[in-house]
Amino acid sequence: MESTKSLPPLRVLLVEDSEDDAELLRLELRRVYKLSMDRVESAQAMQRALNDQEYDIVISDHVMPRFSSTAALAVLKASGKVLPFIIVSGTIGEELAVAAMKAGASDYVLKGNLARLLPAIEREVADAEVRRRAEHEAKESEERFRATFSQAAVGIAQVAPDGRWLRVNQRLCDIVGYSEAELLGKTFQDITYADDLESDLEYVRQILADEIRTFTMEKRYIRKDGTLVWINLTVSLVRAADGSPKYFISVIEDITRRKATEAQLMHLATHDHLTHLPNRSLLQDRITQAIAHAERAERQMAVLFLDLDRFKNINDSLGHDVGDKLIIVLAERLRGIVRGGDTVARVGGDEFVLVITELQYETQAENIARKVLEVLAEPEVVDGTELFLCGSIGISLYPRDGRDCHTLLKNADAAMYRAKEAGRNQFQFFTQEMNANAVHRLTLENELRHALEREEFSLHYQPQIDLANGAVVGMEALLRWHSPTRGMVPPAEFIPLAEESGLIVPIGEWVLRTACAQNKAWLNAGMQSLRVAVNISARQCRLNSLTKLVERVLADTGLDACHLELEITESLLMDNPEESASTLRDLNQMGIQLAIDDFGTGYSSLSYLKRFPIHTLKIDQSFVRDITTDPDDAAIVKAVIAMARSLKLRVVAEGVETVEQLEFLRAHECEGMQGYYFSKPMPTEQFAPWLDQWQGV
Ligand code: C2E
Ligand code: MG
Ligand code: MG
Repeated sequence: MESTKSLPPLRVLLVEDSEDDAELLRLELRRVYKLSMDRVESAQAMQRALNDQEYDIVISDHVMPRFSSTAALAVLKASGKVLPFIIVSGTIGEELAVAAMKAGASDYVLKGNLARLLPAIEREVADAEVRRRAEHEAKESEERFRATFSQAAVGIAQVAPDGRWLRVNQRLCDIVGYSEAELLGKTFQDITYADDLESDLEYVRQILADEIRTFTMEKRYIRKDGTLVWINLTVSLVRAADGSPKYFISVIEDITRRKATEAQLMHLATHDHLTHLPNRSLLQDRITQAIAHAERAERQMAVLFLDLDRFKNINDSLGHDVGDKLIIVLAERLRGIVRGGDTVARVGGDEFVLVITELQYETQAENIARKVLEVLAEPEVVDGTELFLCGSIGISLYPRDGRDCHTLLKNADAAMYRAKEAGRNQFQFFTQEMNANAVHRLTLENELRHALEREEFSLHYQPQIDLANGAVVGMEALLRWHSPTRGMVPPAEFIPLAEESGLIVPIGEWVLRTACAQNKAWLNAGMQSLRVAVNISARQCRLNSLTKLVERVLADTGLDACHLELEITESLLMDNPEESASTLRDLNQMGIQLAIDDFGTGYSSLSYLKRFPIHTLKIDQSFVRDITTDPDDAAIVKAVIAMARSLKLRVVAEGVETVEQLEFLRAHECEGMQGYYFSKPMPTEQFAPWLDQWQGV
């Protein structure tokens, strides 16, 4: 007998009433298998065997006295075991064979042709093994899927094509606050936020129509408690073999927190941090919307541009905290003026824009502007100090003054400037003439650009008198522009423009150089030793570069520092007090005199000026003008002189035109004076002759 050791094992359950036939089969199979075989001939026996043992295959006779292959197939099926089932029969017709195969038999073999049996068994056993493995894997993956499904960190659901929830996992239940049972009784439409339903259904339509394979969208569900939850939804469709839609697989991610962060970022990007009012970018949106709306409704709308007057001074003298508090209070008040659909935006430190929609009459915009001025004027106590604000407002109207956001803003801005020029604390409607003004400014700027190279500038000199002895102690260099087309243009008209355009830098350098060179020339020519005062404008240059420029100019011209005085406005110091203080210390160290020009027009207190190494205060001519008639101005001038003296500062009064003014100032021991009473500013060549004939006062 051959060794059976190397043969593959085969466990057979044989359904057969004849022991002889069984023996035949056993012999046949033993040749190629290490065989174990049980024979049964009744349903009960077969059931028992299947229960107790594991088999690789069932081989069954076709017809038996108390059993049949058909009945045996039923027993096998009922047992839940999946085994190949081969019918071995003495007689079996073609029809019966087909019926048996339909009932689930794997094959049939005629008893007279057992040679066919072996390959059939071999094939069936191999197939069964493959099937078993596949089933095992499917089962495993099903289990894996189940685990993933239920424990997933995202919501997962199967949804019927009509929207019914077929299967939902725990995470989804958590997200929407419904139990699984509750959810299975609903559709996704039931819990979708109304605003998001339309786009969702459109996606569903497209995916059903096979236009897209999957879609992702952000939408809101309504939770059981009525609150909304933002989710990210990804949907794909599973189709049956015939292509008909079976169900959707939806993956649902709770993105409420991300949405909140996004909303926060959005808010930050579109709102002013201090007041939470819309900022410039959101304002532009709102204006554009308002325009569209006004166009449809055939209404007007108004843009009010509000700029606070001298707000910078509050910041500078009282500190930014106080300034901030005032701005917050003001924002609140402005919001109170407008209706829900209107906008109040903060577009700069002290600039606000109001967008008023649904205007029927111009007067409505006017009323709002008046209200704005009123709320500005309401006193506000901050840190124990009662403060008032005032501002200038420019108004532009849609459609009259512009049909787009840019034009409306620009024109409201132009009108605001006009309000400032007209004396502040008022409002102005935009007019086309303001546009003309802008054009005028543009051409002026162009001409100014060429004025330097064409040598159209010159300096005039105005003497400064020491009241103690009537002697001339210095002269102020004042810029003049002889425009070939405009004639003499006063500095007040072109210096602000030169500042805005940056032209003030080369112009200012020219002034400094010319004044120093001239003074040096006069000294060389034997004129008495005088100090020349040069105006430095607020935006002329960064202060630190000023030191270098002055150094260079003095070196180039050979003028001694003691013969130069710089006139600086308060605002220049206040713009950047720290940097100013250090620059002024440098200039002071160089031996240059420093004067504060136009003193009294700004907010700075004298005590504040102590921080700067200043020698002279020039009282603005607006106070001097009325000292003999206006008691307030008289009081101010007296106070300034007294305080300046206590700070050991020299005081120079500007704009002295009459002998009465002179006497008043002399009585109050003002030291220096400048004004038409002594002399107007003179062209260079007239100055020395004037000085020669000067008799003193
Ligand atoms: P400011 O520095 O306060 O100069 C004094 C102004 O008062 C000068 O006007 C002068 O002509 C005028 N003035 C002098 N005495 C009298 C008087 O008795 N009555 C009246 N009504 N006015 C008097 P100006 O020359 O038109 O200059 C105006 C302003 O332009 C100057 O004011 C100064 O701020 C600026 N400015 C002039 N030249 C320069 C310059 O070279 N650079 C810079 N940055 N600014 C300059
Ligand atoms: Mg001056
Ligand atoms: Mg002045």
